[in-house]
Amino acid sequence: MTVLEKSRGIGGRVATRRTRDGLAFDHGAQFVTARGASFGAFLQGASEIGCASEWNPITDPSRFRIATGSTDPALSGPASHWFVGTPGMSSLFKNLAAGLTIRTEVTVTRVDLTEHEVWVDAIESEHGPHRRGPFDAAIIAIPAAQASAVAGHLDGVAASLARVVITPCWALMLAFSGDLQMPSDVLRRSEGPIAWVARNTSKPGRASDITTLVVHASPEWTREHLEVDPDTVATQLFDALPSVVGRTLPDPQHAVSHRWRYAQTAVPLAAPFLEAVNGRVLIGGDWATGARVEAAWDSGEAMASRLLGE
Ligand SMILES: Cc1cc2nc3c(=O)[nH]c(=O)nc-3n(C[C@H](O)[C@H](O)[C@H](O)COP(=O)(O)OP(=O)(O)OC[C@H]3O[C@@H](n4cnc5c(N)ncnc54)[C@H](O)[C@@H]3O)c2cc1C
Repeated sequence: MTVLEKSRGIGGRVATRRTRDGLAFDHGAQFVTARGASFGAFLQGASEIGCASEWNPITDPSRFRIATGSTDPALSGPASHWFVGTPGMSSLFKNLAAGLTIRTEVTVTRVDLTEHEVWVDAIESEHGPHRRGPFDAAIIAIPAAQASAVAGHLDGVAASLARVVITPCWALMLAFSGDLQMPSDVLRRSEGPIAWVARNTSKPGRASDITTLVVHASPEWTREHLEVDPDTVATQLFDALPSVVGRTLPDPQHAVSHRWRYAQTAVPLAAPFLEAVNGRVLIGGDWATGARVEAAWDSGEAMASRLLGE
């Protein structure tokens, strides 16, 4: 089995951005929860080997507003079991990758089939355009719109992929010297440009001599500012922060924004995965059933079972 990954590392939206100055920000998924036994067992194992830890952020109930219309109980309040990767979110799945053949900086552009074989076209940092194969089967576990570009030509998948909606999210990473003395480690808003603020340094295993914040813009604000340049987005989100944290903040020593074009599922597929060509190509990800890491886990597990005939 070979994993082809377009980035330099694995983890996808479960990500940690590290700067040259030694700062680290979980700028994608903030924490994970497990409702099912399978992901729960994984989190327990990851905790035992030091790749995960429970996060108990301080929350001020008057400031922690639950997003109206949220249908996801795991994201609707400070539930008792929020887990984070340690020392960063990107550490969460490190152990899963051990022993796998992973080719990074390989962007798959098309998955094709002959009668008995699967072939993969890719742009590779090392080789440029390159055809890989033959494979017996392929699992495509990327956001639905990206999967459509790679496999939309296969029978019966394009219409289903087109129904899935994944909202974008601008993330702002801020660092301040010293303690900001925030009353809450997490803040959520259902109105205005900002949807979420987390004191990243309140997570276990993070450096504590500086304060880092991760700010997530709302899907609506992000959509309206999708093509705005990152510096302008950083300024606008920073200017909107006082109304959320309740005070003016000092000048940050670091303020960088990142655009997640595909962040969280708004309309899922409502099935664990899509199947093309009699099960030789399976397409899935979090968007199959939800907007959370556990949904991605469940979809991956369902696709693996289908391939292995379990
Ligand atoms: C800002 C933000 C906040 C979030 N907050 C939370 C949260 O608090 N809790 C929670 O549970 N979930 C949260 N999520 C959602 C969570 O991150 C996702 O549900 C989950 O990570 C999806 O995993 P996945 O494997 O399906 O997809 P991804 O994580 O998107 O992984 C897809 C991988 O495929 C690679 N790839 C894409 N296209 C190609 C290609 N053509 N060729 C090769 N490789 C390719 C990508 O580089 C990536 O590594 C958040 C997401 C974002 C962006």
